[in-house]
Parts: sequence; structure tokens; C-alpha cells
Amino acid sequence: MKFNTKAIHGGQKHDPAYGAVMPPIYQTSTYAQSTPGGHKGYEYSRTHNPTRAALEAALASIEDGNHGLAFGSGLAAIDAVMKLLNPGDEVISTNDLYGGTYRLFTKIFEKFGIKFHFVGMSDVEAIEEKINRNTKLIWVETPTNPMMNVVDIAACSAIAKKHEVLLAVDNTFATPYLQQPLSLGADIVMHSATKYLGGHSDVVMGALVVRDNALAERLYFIQNASGAVCGPQDSFLVLRGIKTLHVRMQRHCENGRAVAEYLKNHPQVEKVYWPGFSDHPNHEVARSQMRDFGGMISFVTKGNDFQKAISVVEKLKVFTLAESLGGVESLAGHPASMTHASIPKQEREKTGVVDSLIRLSVGIEDAEDLIQDLAQALA
Ligand SMILES: *Cc1c(COP(=O)(O)O)cnc(C)c1O
Repeated sequence: MKFNTKAIHGGQKHDPAYGAVMPPIYQTSTYAQSTPGGHKGYEYSRTHNPTRAALEAALASIEDGNHGLAFGSGLAAIDAVMKLLNPGDEVISTNDLYGGTYRLFTKIFEKFGIKFHFVGMSDVEAIEEKINRNTKLIWVETPTNPMMNVVDIAACSAIAKKHEVLLAVDNTFATPYLQQPLSLGADIVMHSATKYLGGHSDVVMGALVVRDNALAERLYFIQNASGAVCGPQDSFLVLRGIKTLHVRMQRHCENGRAVAEYLKNHPQVEKVYWPGFSDHPNHEVARSQMRDFGGMISFVTKGNDFQKAISVVEKLKVFTLAESLGGVESLAGHPASMTHASIPKQEREKTGVVDSLIRLSVGIEDAEDLIQDLAQALA
């Protein structure tokens, strides 16, 4: 099955009770048993729920994996991956990382004796330098948030396999429409389904997809034992979102390109970060592992002035000033004071998250309206 068909049908069967084409929202915590242990596959909704199971099958299908797991948020999904580790284990992670992931690693898991190394992964040799016998996991985010660096997943996989460590990829920005980490050699793919998979800014959810059965077993155990699951209503919404993922992504990419090119030629704009530009430092890697370049763009205004950047995001009318990304509507954010405020200024400036950086999640409105909106805000 090709991707566009999988987005709609992958892993799905009509509901056995009445043939409902969309799975019902099984808003139940428990399931009747005829005799102790005599049930129809479902006992308790932390462990399993039919609506969540339908979503998890769809997730596995679109990421070309064998097992999907849905969680109450993207961070809950990452939390589950970290619980595969033991005190003393080490993780090598991308240095420009979603702020919440950085916070989870450094403020929660460091406390439990896990050591993190944050490296610039544009040069994959930087990863190998940090590997030692305690290394258990390589954590990759690509494209990175918000600097839009691209990490070579296949090259990371070669290193991970050579040293027998797990490779996990946060695929939130790209989505499986643009890139499929498992097919490039990753062991675990992670999503904040809050973003493009849900696609309508109406739900918070996380997901993991893996191929390996034994790894899936360990993650299912953690999902049930720690209990950070999502509810049936949210499962339904994300499943519905996935059904239009390919169409939305196509338009996000078209609009992203139009906006990126407009900004690049704007006299008030100093620099635009978008992997589709041929002079983007990782453009060739992006071309080789992504189908297109997506709708996430960051840019810096001329003069690198904090106040000016703030006034630009305040003046936008079609773009909404808000955290998050990946919905049908265009959003603008100021990472230094919003999504990345939890990363110390010194740390974030090392990776380029300066005070005047603006991040856009380009939606699927008419590109001309988006460009006009940016024009008036930058004027
Ligand atoms: C939003 C986001 C997360 C966290 O997901 P939540 O659903 O907000 O918990 C992780 N990684 C990336 C790249 C994100 O954009």
C-alpha cells in the first residue's frame, strides 16, 4: 500500500459490532467478563482500549513499523523511552532540541542517574566521540526545533548498529509523509501527535512506533505500568487527523516554500532557516531522506533586535502568536521567550536561538494571504 492509502486505511478494519466505518469512541474504563479472565481482548482501558488500538494500528502503518503506542502527550512518549534505561546509562542527544525534551532529560532523568551528552549532530562524527560502554541510546530530532538543522538518520543508524545502542528519532516536524526513520534504520520513532498527526490544534498526544517485537513488549509494559495513556476521544481525533495527513502536508510544503522564498528576499530579514534552500548546510541530507521540506521556518530580523522581533509577531493577523505547530492554521512563535524559555540563554544562543528569532508554522491557508500578513508585520 502507498502512503496516501495507508493514511486512510492502514491497520484499520470496520467496527465488528455494527460495521461503523470510523471506530466508535469507546468511552469506557472497563469491560464485562463472562467468567474471570473471560473477555473479548479488553480488560481495562489503561492497558487496552479499542479506539486507542485502532489509532495505534494506524500509527504503526504510516511509519512503516509493526507496533504503535499512543500516550497522553509527546513528552509522555519520550518519558516511556527513557524508562528503558537504567541509572548509569548514557544518552547522546541532538543539542538543539525541543525545549520540553531538554527539560525532561536534564531536570527529571539526570536526577535518576542517566547522563546526557548534547552534541551538534550535523557532523555525525561528534556522536561517535561520545560513545562509551555506558551509552545506550542516541536521541535524534530532525529537522531540529527551531533551527531547522537536519541530521542524517541513516548515518546515525550505522553508528548505533556498530556500537549496539538504540536509535530513537523524534519525527514530529517531518511526519511520516516526509520521512520514515524506521526505514532509514532507527529503532524507535517518536511523535508529538499534538502537532501534524492531529493537525487541528485540538488535542495533546504522543506516539511511539517500533518494528522489533521484543522492544515493543518492553515499551507496552512501560505504557501500562507507568500509565501515561491517552483517552478514547483523543485517540479518535488523532485517527481522524491522520486520514488527511498527506493532503495537509502537501499544502504545508507548498506554502512553506512560498513563505520561505518571500522571507529570503525581504530587506528586513537577516536570515531564513529552511532545509529546502540549496545553501542550507544540510540541504543534501534533507533531499536524500525527506520527500519535501515541510512548513516549519525560522528567521531572524535585521539588526537582531529583541523589541523588533516582538513587534513583528504582535502585528501578525493571519498568523496567530501561539506555542505549538502543525495545525491547519498558521502560527508564529518567539522561541527565546516561549517554547525555549526553559533552556538557559547561554545554552540556546550557542545553537542560534537568539532573541530575534521567529518561528513560523506555516498552515494551509492561501499562501498569498500569509505573505501579505508577513509583509505588513515586517513593514
Ligand atoms: C511539541 C513537541 C514535543 C512534545 O510534545 P507534547 O505533545 O507537547 O508533549 C516533542 N518534540 C517536538 C519536536 C515537539 O514539537
